[in-house]
Amino acid sequence: MVVTMIFRCSHVVESHAVPTYHVCKEEIHMDAIYEPRGAALEYCEAACNLYRGCVHGCRYCYAPSAVRRTREDFHSGRQLRDGILDALRRDLFAGACGDSRVLFCFTSDPYQVGCDNSATRAALEMCSAASRPFAVLTKGGMRAADDFDIYEGNGWFGTTLAFTDDRSRQAWEPCAASVESRIEAIRTAHSLGIRTWVSMEPVIEPAQALDLVIELRHDVDEWRVGRWNHDARANSIDWTEFTSRAIRTCLDTGADFMLKEALHRYACPGAITRYVDGQVVARRTA
Ligand code: SF4
Repeated sequence: MVVTMIFRCSHVVESHAVPTYHVCKEEIHMDAIYEPRGAALEYCEAACNLYRGCVHGCRYCYAPSAVRRTREDFHSGRQLRDGILDALRRDLFAGACGDSRVLFCFTSDPYQVGCDNSATRAALEMCSAASRPFAVLTKGGMRAADDFDIYEGNGWFGTTLAFTDDRSRQAWEPCAASVESRIEAIRTAHSLGIRTWVSMEPVIEPAQALDLVIELRHDVDEWRVGRWNHDARANSIDWTEFTSRAIRTCLDTGADFMLKEALHRYACPGAITRYVDGQVVARRTA
């Protein structure tokens, strides 16, 4: 007798939801490409999570509680999800989520230190072969650069970074790549003609975040700016002041930018919240 279990998972890392799994005793049908929900939709219309667990150990990571694992367990290792590459190949063939750009990854990092990241390369190669646009988001720094040859015309490279002082990075993202390595990765990608973007979230040190925008003004095509959430210490930050300065600083660079929804209430009515190709796409309306 085959016993079938069907359940829904809703994991969250920095408010990012992951897909539904249908698990059967004899076979696993997973949605490799899925449409994110909630705040994650601000980032992309399609995503793929290749791994479980993350060794980067960020202090603000909410994934462990969301997946009911202890922090120690979640950050102690990383596993490739069983069958994920086969499922991705199938979903690409089937045109899952239309032709939306696929983000790697929300619930883990595609380039982790001390890990074999060849599955990430395989996934990007599949997207490239299928002419499916993709975007990478990582704190892996130059570990990602070995795969930049796959991006041509199809891929965007993004890093999460909100610090300029590596001592802050060590305190908050102890096992992720250094600030220097992440900046080098962005600059390398940009020099190769790859569209670059930075997820500046969570902003824990506002002055450093604003300095970063200036430091990388020639290297970043798009900024995505989000506040620090779920921590009482964030209440001591003047978010109104930061939001105003972030908008002005991004406009001064001429790069595209997007304020995450959680910052909109700190913007002045009418302030620009989304700016693309020199055009205002959205403003705060209330
Ligand atoms: S990179 Fe940091 S925030 Fe993202 S999954 Fe890994 S530990 Fe969590």
